Amino acid sequence: MSISKILEKDILSGEDIITLLSSRDENRTLLFKKSAEIKEKIIGKKVWFRGLIEFSNVCSKDCLYCGIRKGNKNLKRYSLSDEEILTAAKFAYDNLYGSIALQSGELESPVIADRIENLIYKIKALSKGELGITLSVGEQNPEIYQKWFEAGAHRYLLRIEATNESLYRKIHPGNKKHDFRRRLECLKSLQDIGYQTGTGVMIGLPFQTMDDLASDLLFMKEFNIDMCGMGPYIEHADTPLMIYAADLLPLKERFDLTLKMIAIIRIMMKDINIVAATALQAIDPVGREKAIKIGANIIMPNITPGRYRDSYKLYDNKPCTDESAEDCQSCLEARVSLADSEIVYGEWGDSQHYDKRRKSI
Ligand code: SF4
Repeated sequence: MSISKILEKDILSGEDIITLLSSRDENRTLLFKKSAEIKEKIIGKKVWFRGLIEFSNVCSKDCLYCGIRKGNKNLKRYSLSDEEILTAAKFAYDNLYGSIALQSGELESPVIADRIENLIYKIKALSKGELGITLSVGEQNPEIYQKWFEAGAHRYLLRIEATNESLYRKIHPGNKKHDFRRRLECLKSLQDIGYQTGTGVMIGLPFQTMDDLASDLLFMKEFNIDMCGMGPYIEHADTPLMIYAADLLPLKERFDLTLKMIAIIRIMMKDINIVAATALQAIDPVGREKAIKIGANIIMPNITPGRYRDSYKLYDNKPCTDESAEDCQSCLEARVSLADSEIVYGEWGDSQHYDKRRKSI
């Protein structure tokens, strides 16, 4: 079937998605034109900020692709103090960011759970309830998710990274701590509790096929996610997956596939929030602008204190690790306007999909 015919369909099959992912030249342009039109019609030219606070790079897990995995001994570990986290949140509030995202390595303990709960209450208090809070702190028990939700966090990003269980097992150690089923259960409990629930995958992983990528998008549609964060896989020198570096697609192709994945998910799920991932900029200096043009509507300025940023490298060549939060904001303002869009200040920018999904329950 021609690309034009596929783009007219209401529901895309796996085969359609693979055809779109393989599109080149004018067919690729048609795909991006369609996704950009949908974005403009449903979301407009708006882009919302999530001020990103990477508050600790300590992690109990050992994902084989990740630069801050527990087994990486070449990394200086850090944890921000409560005061540093609250100062960063205050910066976001004072600069009308609308929302923050608290992100860290994955740790499960009552002490950490209580600490995060207290921080959520304090952030809500210092912003008079106005700052939206996204959490991205991994797998936890449902009771913990519930406590954090009641404290005021309302969005949660838990990337599945690969929805094909056999691929998932190839990029994670084979033990109970890295259990595909548990990750799915966690996503489900987040959704059941009432979070705006986000997930995403890496694109260009070793062993990954076009079929896998198509299934990833079908999974997201089927799961009825509210938010999507996808980025190209970029290898990190201090990780076990590095031994496959020579077999990977060239970075430019991983980048191109990521843009196509973003365009296709925008076509499949018109009203969700989609992040323009920082990893895109690690490959192409205007990578995030390109993502915004063809479908993304969320950008995450890094407001982690600058001296820690170099130590939160999930992948090599991570951009913007030497900027202050102020530099980051003005750089992103320029970038977003280059993409013919505008940042909306002082709003949460919630997923429209979430509102509709909740009303239909
Ligand atoms: S991907 Fe997440 S859970 Fe896995 S090692 Fe990295 S920070 Fe930890």
